[in-house]
Amino acid sequence: MRLVDARETTVSIASNMHNAAISFARMTVSVAALVTDEVRNGRRIIGYGFNSNGRYAQGGILRERLIPRILESPAESLLDPDSGVLDPLRIWDAAMRDEKPGGHGERAVAMAVVDMAAWDLAAKLAGLPLHVLLAERFPNAVRADSAMVYAAGGYYSDGGVEAVQRELLDYTDMGYRAVKIKVGGEPLDDDIRRIEAVRNVLPDDVTLAVDANARLDLDRALDYAERLEPYGLAWFEEPCGPLDYAGFTRLAASYEPPLATGENLLSADDFRNLLRYGGLRSERDILQPDPGLCYGLTEFLRILDLLQEHGWSPQQVCLHGGHQLSLALTAAFGLGPCESYPGLFAPIGGFADGFPIEGGRIGLPDVPGIGLELKGSLVPVLKALAV
Ligand code: MG
Repeated sequence: MRLVDARETTVSIASNMHNAAISFARMTVSVAALVTDEVRNGRRIIGYGFNSNGRYAQGGILRERLIPRILESPAESLLDPDSGVLDPLRIWDAAMRDEKPGGHGERAVAMAVVDMAAWDLAAKLAGLPLHVLLAERFPNAVRADSAMVYAAGGYYSDGGVEAVQRELLDYTDMGYRAVKIKVGGEPLDDDIRRIEAVRNVLPDDVTLAVDANARLDLDRALDYAERLEPYGLAWFEEPCGPLDYAGFTRLAASYEPPLATGENLLSADDFRNLLRYGGLRSERDILQPDPGLCYGLTEFLRILDLLQEHGWSPQQVCLHGGHQLSLALTAAFGLGPCESYPGLFAPIGGFADGFPIEGGRIGLPDVPGIGLELKGSLVPVLKALAV
């Protein structure tokens, strides 16, 4: 068994919305295919991966560094010595050869693309859905066929407060029991009016979180925290810069309800610093890594080990990204609700077609791999990479 090719392409996920920090008008992602010499039932086994939204395509790093290193590696060096099957951990090591420690950023995003493809491949070669493969391979993973999700929306757009109200009611009609909106993109008083307007229409048993996308300086974040505290929010996300650990410590000392952060930490190194120096509260606060941005599932396993070392439960992790890899990890490792962006970030955003939300949960596909082929809007992209 060996890899015979690795391909990548850039796909647009542009939309007219924006959060407090960025516009998505020119947003792109990379999609990659790892092609094997294995043919089963007349079909070649190919693993697919992509990066999550928010960090753009990474074609240069993929073409010039990561993919050549994998294809130039001796075939047997990528195989698990016991099973003789291509091993994602060895593919990760090969792709990252000759990369210095630290300096994560764009490289972490590119590596996430390759790693997702490697795990999709591993699950297909095992003939198992990824979440089942994880349950079989790792003692801290369990077999679960559904996972909790929450709907992240409420972006700033031209529709005003009424449009946000309608959008969130659509989510509760779909079956979501937890929703999130943006803050920090308008004056504080206007954002508070937005929260009140949304709270007024949401059913009482639906929880609301807010996300400032790291847009606020610490003084403004503290002003927001004081005004937000009475609303009983599920969490206040990215109130300050993602690497401002002293800022988080200051916020956690004065804001009682949960804080959340992590989608812009792109390595286990950064999570170690957050856990050591961020002043966050393990019984309450929320960590939001994105395995589609942060070196992949392989690095997420290291983050899980760090959580255990620092006394955090996996239930305090709510993965960012709204894609099928995050959903599979949520199910397998018993994490908190997985982010979902209904109807946004196509074709990579969203889960397999045909699985309704029921009571805030969604089912996982029972096919080998991550199940990316069950997402109709993604299939043309995958097919184009397969030929
Ligand atoms: Mg966010």
